[in-house]
Amino acid sequence: MSAASFARAATAATPGLDTLLERLNPEQRAAARHGESGADAGPLLIIAGAGSGKTNTLAHRVGCLIAGGVDPHGILLLTFSRRAALQMTQRVEGIVAKLDERWARIAHTVLPWAGTFHGIGARLLREYAQRYAMDPAFTILDREDAADLMNLVRADLKLSEREQRFPLKATCLAIYSAVVNRQVTLERVLAEDFPWCVAWQAELRALFAAYVHAKQRQGVLDYDDLLLYWAHLLAEPALATEMGHRFSHVLVDEYQDTNALQATILRGLKPDGRGLTAVGDDAQAIYAFRGATVRNILDFPTQFTPPARVVTLTRNYRSTQPILAATNAVIGLASERFTKDLWSERGSQERPRIVTVADDGDQAHYVAEQVLARREAAVALKAQAVLFRASSHSAMLELELVRRNIPYLKFGGLKFLEAAHVKDVLAFLRLLENPRDRIAGFRVLQLLPGVGPKTANRMLDALAVATDAAAAVEALSAPAGGALEWAQFAATFRLLARQSPGWPAELELVSRWYEPLLRQRHDNAEVREGDLRQLEAIASGYASRERFLTELTLDPPGATSDDAGVPMKDEDYLILSTIHSAKGQEWRAVYVLNAVDGCIPSDLATGTTAEIEEERRLLYVAMTRAKDHLTIIVPQRFYVHQQGRRGDRHVYAARTRFIPDAIADRFELSGWPQVAPDASPCTSQAAAIDLAARMRGMWT
Ligand code: ATP
Ligand code: MG
Repeated sequence: MSAASFARAATAATPGLDTLLERLNPEQRAAARHGESGADAGPLLIIAGAGSGKTNTLAHRVGCLIAGGVDPHGILLLTFSRRAALQMTQRVEGIVAKLDERWARIAHTVLPWAGTFHGIGARLLREYAQRYAMDPAFTILDREDAADLMNLVRADLKLSEREQRFPLKATCLAIYSAVVNRQVTLERVLAEDFPWCVAWQAELRALFAAYVHAKQRQGVLDYDDLLLYWAHLLAEPALATEMGHRFSHVLVDEYQDTNALQATILRGLKPDGRGLTAVGDDAQAIYAFRGATVRNILDFPTQFTPPARVVTLTRNYRSTQPILAATNAVIGLASERFTKDLWSERGSQERPRIVTVADDGDQAHYVAEQVLARREAAVALKAQAVLFRASSHSAMLELELVRRNIPYLKFGGLKFLEAAHVKDVLAFLRLLENPRDRIAGFRVLQLLPGVGPKTANRMLDALAVATDAAAAVEALSAPAGGALEWAQFAATFRLLARQSPGWPAELELVSRWYEPLLRQRHDNAEVREGDLRQLEAIASGYASRERFLTELTLDPPGATSDDAGVPMKDEDYLILSTIHSAKGQEWRAVYVLNAVDGCIPSDLATGTTAEIEEERRLLYVAMTRAKDHLTIIVPQRFYVHQQGRRGDRHVYAARTRFIPDAIADRFELSGWPQVAPDASPCTSQAAAIDLAARMRGMWT
């Protein structure tokens, strides 16, 4: 639908606006209708606590804009994940469809520019590629591939051979990424976050320069580049004006978790803030470890002249009053916070529960039992979620769920796309997309018998300079001892490069080529072939190879059946999720696993006060997902899977420090099956650690 026909449809439909907004409270309504004269809207910030209807208000705001005649192609909606973008699009579709049923028919085209910063960045960078002399067929390195490339460059510069150990590839990438995303100097990042690497500053600088060169030679971008290149394009006044005009409205949800580079992009798009809306909650900032800064949201209003309008919301519509009393108490202990306590009209006699269990085995039994009991009480599995700090924390529970035949869907930390065989197939597609992509090329070529790193390097050198990749592959001589496999590879490559059967048939052909190799390389080939079928199902949801590769690399499906949808679509299943992936969502019943020191806060984050505060907010995010029932589980002992010296082991734990005795009266304390709720595991913890130290001491 064109802008003009939208405007016509809008005018016809405007009488419905009041009906549309009748469920919103006055503050929400004011935010939704802010600057009704369309592009004249000054900057707006909605800052408020969890469940106060921020996202809902944002969706209504978008609905109002469309109803007011704003062309949806000019609305840029930035969310935290692809899933959130999809949910938001659906909410907006529902809202505009209410206005005029003609819109229901075109609903799927309602928001063409809804996505994550990285996803939208990738799309714009392809579109504007000629303007900055880049091949639009660039491929994107995921974090693991970026670390591999960093490693290759590190070896080329002979940094890995130094006497004193040079930082490992993952550390190098983390430092590089921090400099880019936080927009501060290398010196500062090293001093503040990586003091043990300070001595390597000059070498790191040389390494990063070479890394950038390597990416450019290969026509690849890493995650950070998607934001960095976008920000640099916007630094060109003419382009900034063009892009700024193209998007009359830019709206961002979960703004508290954006970084300095993302704020620069927004400023580039909307220098005076007109048409810009940011939404968030500083008490839910949980991504500082990836360079996000809560300053973005706190400083938003005063960035502009005149300053942004600030709307705060204090009523919570999600949770019952007793749940809210508990979450308010937990966040009330935070050292700093802008958003205020929330109130709710949803009364209930049920306080949130803290249940002490002996260990994570009992935790798994207890949760499974409760989930089933709730289902009997007509709370569907889909309306229940189990949340945890780290993906590995659900291992025991997953076993128990399988044993009891309880279907579940897990978000966050799923390894499907990281499995070697899935990556092999994706690497072939990436090499087709961009024959200069060396990390992909290395992976594919070394699958072939007779091809080692040296041969692969030579072959990739030839591919990098070729104008016709298929001809270049044909011209290569087969490696010794692998003539047949080579011929099959070359034939598949040529077929796909020359007479592509289109998408997703391409993926099927690559899978067919790969399957004999898979059987040679892996024992449980059947299971792995199942994964490839799954990948094909996911692929069918994308319009082209490029979109598939880009979207999957940027925001991998949270679960195998997430995008494929098919196997579980209509069934009921329990939700398992890391707390980080649960942002913005809600369920009737929520169970929080391992609410013990060492898990929340994670022992990985027991450093600075800032890190501890972020862990407190994580618990707050987890608890505020619950609408009716909240259960927090405290195992007295839990099993840790750890690589390295200390191996897997049991550790003793105490209830998370974020729920001290002073606020315990907001909860109902109990034990299961026969554990005393106030048993103090601290004593046993001290004894265990002492003993362990003595054992180790025997050998030193
Ligand atoms: P979070 O901080 O967790 O992202 P949020 O502030 O974005 O939360 P929403 O997800 O928009 O909150 O809304 C929470 C719940 O409250 C949703 O179920 C939503 O439908 C409901 N809700 C929001 N506003 C209203 C209202 N005015 N009347 C009734 N229900 C509302
Ligand atoms: Mg929200």
